[in-house]
Amino acid sequence: MTISPVAERLLRWFDQHGRHDLPWQQNQTPYRVWVSEIMLQQTQVSTVIPYYEKFMVRFPDVQALAMATQDEVLQHWAGLGYYARGRNLHKAAQVIVAEHDGEFPQDIERVQQLPGIGRSTAGAILSLSSQQRHPILDGNVKRVLTRHQAIDGWPGQTAIEQQLWQLAEQFTPQNRVNDYTQAIMDLGATLCTRSKPACLLCPVQSDCEGFKQGKPTAFPVSKPKKTTPVKTTTMLLILNDANEILLEKRPPAGIWGGLWSLPECDGDAAQWVEQQLGLNVIEEECWPPFRHTFSHYHLDITPQILRLTNTHTARVMEGRETNWYKAGHANNIGCAAPVTKLLASLRQHLEGATS
Ligand code: SF4
Repeated sequence: MTISPVAERLLRWFDQHGRHDLPWQQNQTPYRVWVSEIMLQQTQVSTVIPYYEKFMVRFPDVQALAMATQDEVLQHWAGLGYYARGRNLHKAAQVIVAEHDGEFPQDIERVQQLPGIGRSTAGAILSLSSQQRHPILDGNVKRVLTRHQAIDGWPGQTAIEQQLWQLAEQFTPQNRVNDYTQAIMDLGATLCTRSKPACLLCPVQSDCEGFKQGKPTAFPVSKPKKTTPVKTTTMLLILNDANEILLEKRPPAGIWGGLWSLPECDGDAAQWVEQQLGLNVIEEECWPPFRHTFSHYHLDITPQILRLTNTHTARVMEGRETNWYKAGHANNIGCAAPVTKLLASLRQHLEGATS
């Protein structure tokens, strides 16, 4: 039976340097392996060990877990984080008792139908506990494979993920599949680490493309950043004779919903103010634009100062909630962040003009 050179070297390394005495490696039943695999998602081995041991004392088998209340399961999960994992574990135990006579299913399709178990976790459970030949592709394995093959693409892309599954399948040996699964996970966790891979100690270094190219940490390739769109607006700082500024309450929905802000316009500011606010103004000056960044776009804001020419006839159009504020007194009301910044600049500007 042929074995890939990668698997051969990994197994030899594992015999000497792999981890053999983790609590879930003793008495490797599907239940014990399953619980460990779920706890180890996004959590390091050293953190998991004490939780795992306590969990096994309280819930030694799938029946004990299924019969417990969710509260009790989550109490034993407290501190591990990602509580959906604990809730799914509990739900899956109930499914195993109700639909599989309390026996962990041995068919990978059925295992994947249990709550909280994806393809890689299902493969890991069945290979580690039942020596079934299934590839795994958790975060550690993705890192090892993308580096070893210098895969030039983000693993979140479907095509790259498929390529990785094919490689994982190709490398997984027919025999000693449980040791191989543990070996490749151990390699990722102990040598081929995220930021400082110990390539000189690595058993697969001789044909690792990432190492040959001198840039192992360039893999896996990061998720491509989306270019953030840029929108522009003009914020109007409309002043009256008393150097009060006109603020407008934003509608309850949308950005800055319900906060006080400055009127915004595109195009001719004086004309817009007359049409929309019923005020006559003259344009005093424009300040350089500045950028405010939201999670999904940048807003380039150009502040424009305008002064009221006919304070006494001033009226504000119906349907808009507006108010005049002293530039320095608007701290007590809820303002959008860039507006607070602009009001502070305006105050300094006005104080400078009068001193
Ligand atoms: Fe990872 Fe380095 Fe080994 Fe390549 S040689 S698999 S980069 S540890």
